[in-house]
Amino acid sequence: MEDKRSVGERTAAVHGPRPSEPGSLTTPIHQTSTFVLASADDVDAVYEGRREGDVYSRYSNPSVRAVEERVAMLEGTQAAAAYASGMGAITTTVLAFVPPGGRIVANEDLYGGVANFLKWMRDRLGVRVDLVPTTDAAALASALASGPRPSLCYLETPTNPTLRLVDLAAAVEAARAAGVPTAVDSTFASPVNSKPHALGVDLVLHSATKYLGGHGDLTAGVVCGSKELVARVHAVGKMLGPTLDPHAAFLIERGLKTLPLRVKAINENAQAIAEHLARHPAVHAVHYPGLASHPQHALAKKQMPGGYGGVLSFDVATFADAKRVLDAFRIVRNAASLGGVESLCSLPYQQSHRGQPKDALARSGITEGTIRLAVGVEDKDDLVRDLDQALSGLRK
Ligand SMILES: *Cc1c(COP(=O)(O)O)cnc(C)c1O
Repeated sequence: MEDKRSVGERTAAVHGPRPSEPGSLTTPIHQTSTFVLASADDVDAVYEGRREGDVYSRYSNPSVRAVEERVAMLEGTQAAAAYASGMGAITTTVLAFVPPGGRIVANEDLYGGVANFLKWMRDRLGVRVDLVPTTDAAALASALASGPRPSLCYLETPTNPTLRLVDLAAAVEAARAAGVPTAVDSTFASPVNSKPHALGVDLVLHSATKYLGGHGDLTAGVVCGSKELVARVHAVGKMLGPTLDPHAAFLIERGLKTLPLRVKAINENAQAIAEHLARHPAVHAVHYPGLASHPQHALAKKQMPGGYGGVLSFDVATFADAKRVLDAFRIVRNAASLGGVESLCSLPYQQSHRGQPKDALARSGITEGTIRLAVGVEDKDDLVRDLDQALSGLRK
């Protein structure tokens, strides 16, 4: 059997890392909570690691393992562990590394659920949480080098919804110098557009609800890294129990087969739309790393060689205008989430960043008129036409 790790990305996505065996073409849905073991001695063999085997689905399940192996292959890591949501993967990972009273250094502009979780870690577990400006590599290095040694450097890039980037190579250098492991939420990039592990990041996280599943029909999350670190995370995952359901695992595996095709189409659509919006008179600003006008475009080119992803945001004059645009869309749907085949839109001011103080919004580059667009795989011309008709009649 050919070593599938040496094949191209599309082949890897379709075939995965396992040699195919005669029989079922796809991985069956192992819809079972437990597994029958061959003998009383076999129980010892499995527990002592002399034989690989499944005991109970909260620990492991063949359908879930198939997803974990395929995502690890696409992300370029030894191992991965899949959970029932992105937040399940993230909270499990952070809890596996950061003890009560410990310290975590992270960038600002974090996904809302993660920002809330870190506040909870601070209030309930006495964890010192130091947030540094997302684009400031020097501030990150200085936070990592000073004070008590952090247990984890937690990063997210690109960020929601203004698409700021953390310089991962610089972050890894600073974290290594301080002896701190790094974890990156790479959901917005997807494994196709960026490979954080190749840049030295220890743990790569994805909300598989987004690009990996890709069809808006499930929630799941994955953490990727070395066998040792993923085992450390899963030791906690087994206890907390954010277990991925075998049926959802089947859907993710199916989605993964077309991941490179979908992301390529989405990258192309988003780039064309960002360029179109940048020329539109009613649009005040466009945030997209693929635009030459993006302040970190050079970094994006280096760090996201596969493309710039499907999320972009743009500003119209007022909240009322933004609402009008949302309600005028005929193809783009008003729904949270991203990374699926359908184009979705939302207003950060009334959804992801609802109720945040004005100065926090301003720091994140969000206005009342900011519209987030998560571009899908529809025909580019149809999307551009839908945007144009929705924006028509807006004041400058
Ligand atoms: C959606 C998302 C999450 C949370 O994932 P869920 O699957 O909704 O739990 C975390 N990080 C980012 C960047 C996301 O977009």
